[in-house]
Amino acid sequence: KPVEQLTIEEATHEVKSLSLQVEQWGREYYENDNPSVEDYVYDQAYQRLVSLEKAFPELQSPDSPTQQVGAATISDFAKVEHPNPMLSMGDVFSVAELIEFNDRLQRNGVDHPEYNLELKIDGLAVSLMYENGKFVQGSTRGDGRIGEDITKNLKKIKSIPRTLSQPLTIEVRGECYMPKEAFAKLNEQRELQGLTVFANPRNAAAGSLRQLDPQVTADRELSTFIYYVPDYQTLGVTTQSAALLKLAELGFNVNLNNQVVDSQAEIEAYINEYTKKRNDLEYGIDGIVEKVNDLALQEELGSTVKVPRWEIAYKFPPEEAATIVRDIEWTV
Ligand code: NAD
Repeated sequence: KPVEQLTIEEATHEVKSLSLQVEQWGREYYENDNPSVEDYVYDQAYQRLVSLEKAFPELQSPDSPTQQVGAATISDFAKVEHPNPMLSMGDVFSVAELIEFNDRLQRNGVDHPEYNLELKIDGLAVSLMYENGKFVQGSTRGDGRIGEDITKNLKKIKSIPRTLSQPLTIEVRGECYMPKEAFAKLNEQRELQGLTVFANPRNAAAGSLRQLDPQVTADRELSTFIYYVPDYQTLGVTTQSAALLKLAELGFNVNLNNQVVDSQAEIEAYINEYTKKRNDLEYGIDGIVEKVNDLALQEELGSTVKVPRWEIAYKFPPEEAATIVRDIEWTV
């Protein structure tokens, strides 16, 4: 039933059961690295909850999964408090919605900004701390405020430099992922050993990194793409595209398939290009990230409790299930 046609009683009931469902899927995904449903099923439920809360704001509680990042860490890892929160990202599922996002920015006074378009790497976010150019600590996102200390595991990943080319004291963030070929091999091996297989490269990466025994991480092939610096002044750059180049110069693995654009036509062309190319890439991507390129403007725009206002993810339609998505009925 469309949300506008619901009575308050119906909406209350649906918000309650949908929140429980989304929370449970969230725990399976974030905490156990073992989702029981495909991402598009989760996304559909999540979007329905967002529209219910929009139509009935009185039903939105601060504990709603729409107001939380990831899941609280309940693992045996030591906890790390992030100096800057690690947020989630807003997402859209069509070019029309992306245009709407850009129009909204424009209405909020951001006049024809330059955007940096990047590939949305399908892995898990990690934060890396460097002191005087030395890698000292790495963590997962957790609930955005408190993550897990996975320093020992991250030290097993070759693409993470132990020492930077300059002695900076800086936090960088990026995505840890498992290349597609390594994922296929790992699952093949696990099947032979009678072990459960990983649902997708994202969960394989997360399951391999969030291991109390760092040797397990060492035995798996994992890599990283670094794309964000909360304190950009330390890096001495003013745009996201320059930050990427600087990060590469410091010794990080950076995905340089990014493109700076300032028109809708270029954005659409980039989306089309990578919708076609995504299967040929050695790593999984689940969409495109559009970021306001000017870092001072990013700072000015800030974020909500959950997502930055200066970036948005365009999610690719699910490959085999593209036609099923619209047919899902929520029987709650
Ligand atoms: P998200 O993963 O969709 O987006 C935010 C993340 O994108 C960032 O934390 C970062 O790690 C990543 N990212 C990749 N490339 C990036 C780039 N170039 N620049 C910036 N960030 C980049 O958001 P989320 O809140 O972590 O999770 C929601 C996603 O997880 C949805 O896709 C959802 O389908 C999936 N999920 C699935 C289930 C399930 O049961 N299947 C459950 C929960 C969540």
